[in-house]
Amino acid sequence: MVVGGGDTALEEAFFLAKFAKEIHLLVRKDTFRASQILQNRLKQFPQITVHFNTELQDIIGDGKKIESVIIKKPDNNTSEQILNVEGVFVAIGHTPNTELFKGKLNLDERGYITTIKGSTKTGLPGVFACGDVQDSEYRQAITAAGSGCMAALDVERYLASRIEKNGIFCIEEESTVSTITSRNGINCLDNITL
Ligand SMILES: Cc1cc2nc3c(=O)[nH]c(=O)nc-3n(C[C@H](O)[C@H](O)[C@H](O)COP(=O)(O)OP(=O)(O)OC[C@H]3O[C@@H](n4cnc5c(N)ncnc54)[C@H](O)[C@@H]3O)c2cc1C
Repeated sequence: MVVGGGDTALEEAFFLAKFAKEIHLLVRKDTFRASQILQNRLKQFPQITVHFNTELQDIIGDGKKIESVIIKKPDNNTSEQILNVEGVFVAIGHTPNTELFKGKLNLDERGYITTIKGSTKTGLPGVFACGDVQDSEYRQAITAAGSGCMAALDVERYLASRIEKNGIFCIEEESTVSTITSRNGINCLDNITL
């Protein structure tokens, strides 16, 4: 059984269709949220039964494996139904665990940390984001690991740039610092771009 009506749920169901004889797809609403192209592909999978307006009430098992589920149409009190299934896959979307950073880092409307394109830099100098918290598209182990490597390089460069500035600590990667030096007894104001 797959729970959900979006692209992820349909993709999961198509993938499971390679292994399972029968798949139940539970959709809470009366329509799919999935793209039309995936809805059209669904016609190629007669082994997928779609249950619209249906919610998962309970999962029943023996503590080791799933044996059945109870499903229900909320608008009909008498329609509880038991389905024998061997697995339940919940595909109802993702919420990034970024609550901690609200008001501190830039987040997009879905709560993902926004980074400068092609890097792991956030809007805050010295703070870098990688992995699923900044990736609303792929969210895979390999992409998270890749961006983790990018973040490590970005951090290394950031730290190296701080050390190279002759004892002047950078607050921002590109900022101008004013220094007063004495030349021939005259105080001069120099602007240094870090
Ligand atoms: C059910 C499931 C199946 C998946 N299957 C696959 C698959 O087959 N192939 C694939 O490539 N990807 C798969 N993924 C996705 C993959 O797991 C993620 O993309 C990957 O783990 C993201 O890595 P991450 O380091 O960004 O985040 P995570 O692996 O989630 O690591 C985040 C870490 O931060 C810690 N943390 C959270 N809050 C705090 C805090 N306040 N302070 C300190 N630490 C904190 C957490 O404990 C955790 O250890 C799957 C994900 C799920 C949920």
